Amino acid sequence: MQVILGGYMATTAYSKHYAREIDVEQLAWLLSGRQPDASEQVSEIDSKWSEWIRSDVQCSSCGRIGAHVVRSARSRGTQKVIRQSHFRFLGQDGNDAHHPFCEFYGEDDGVLSQPDGLVNLGSERSAETRLIRELVCKGIEQNLFDQSTIRAMRQWFFELKASSRFRMTVTPEQVEWARCLRRHAHYQRWTFHPAQAEMPGFDWAAAAKYQFTEEHLPLFELLRETPVEATHWRRAQELTIRHKDQEVFDLSALRPHYDAALTLCRFVAKNAGVKFSPTDPDSYRWKGPPVPLLALCGLSLFVSSWDMNAAIAMFAKLLRSPAPADLSRGNVIGLNPFHEYTPWRLVQVSADIASSSFDGQDYPGRLAAIEAKLREQHRLWKLQNP
Ligand SMILES: [Zn+2]
Repeated sequence: MQVILGGYMATTAYSKHYAREIDVEQLAWLLSGRQPDASEQVSEIDSKWSEWIRSDVQCSSCGRIGAHVVRSARSRGTQKVIRQSHFRFLGQDGNDAHHPFCEFYGEDDGVLSQPDGLVNLGSERSAETRLIRELVCKGIEQNLFDQSTIRAMRQWFFELKASSRFRMTVTPEQVEWARCLRRHAHYQRWTFHPAQAEMPGFDWAAAAKYQFTEEHLPLFELLRETPVEATHWRRAQELTIRHKDQEVFDLSALRPHYDAALTLCRFVAKNAGVKFSPTDPDSYRWKGPPVPLLALCGLSLFVSSWDMNAAIAMFAKLLRSPAPADLSRGNVIGLNPFHEYTPWRLVQVSADIASSSFDGQDYPGRLAAIEAKLREQHRLWKLQNP
């Protein structure tokens, strides 16, 4: 479901009573005590359960209670699902019950922002999700972890994020500036000399770009290992707008754990003997790892007290265990502790760049100014070298 892949709402939550992560449909089945057939749509939940749900069901991330069931809705015209069934967390006063730093705080309108881009982890469609779900089931059957371990991991991560914070003063323009720098080709180096411009077809625009590289070298270092994909940068801009002047969590505490999980992802993908995704493991850092794999790697490390080789040993055990008897035990939804890690990291990188870059934040304008400067150097040089 959307929630694990950068989504906006709590489509699943943690039931204390059932000690597992569930979605609205699963809760309906559990409460009514019957398994539906495959064709059945979302089941009704009797309103007599409302009070019980409010105190039993917790947010997967911040752990707050106050869950209300919101049923799915379809567009009247196209019959497309425009709102998934989900849990809305409300306090006694009717306001958002999530912790202000919770990833679901203020985001529970339940409207799907990209209905076509959804990957439904609850379905069997995604091969990589199916693979990970099987491994999760094996881990539970082998007593390597259980649903409450997953819950504990989520809580641990949440507290880590919430323990350090900063005020959001980054602007969308600063994010855009960082994005332009990220896209600027800076690997080739070239030093301008006015004599070069005597070439009949001299490329002034290219010269300006080379010069730009020389003048902004330290900034490219800050951008190392950040993604190029526009979606992450756009989301980073959205975050700066949504959280303008608010206190938000500081992601740097998360970074060593994210990096470790990513390293484990790459090792596992290269050595597991099964194919997790079409993406080359060496480019996970730039393109992003498969989210279900990242989530399971995070869990392996969490259970192994962040000892890389212990986590690898555990993963080997998962891969070598017999096929699980019960596939329903491994709901991977809600597993990913690194929700929106990448756009938040881009927000921080943009802040770092903005604080060390003094010469304006208009990329095309800056290039034009540099070109004008080089042309002027050439003009003066010509006067001396007629
Ligand atoms: Zn929450």
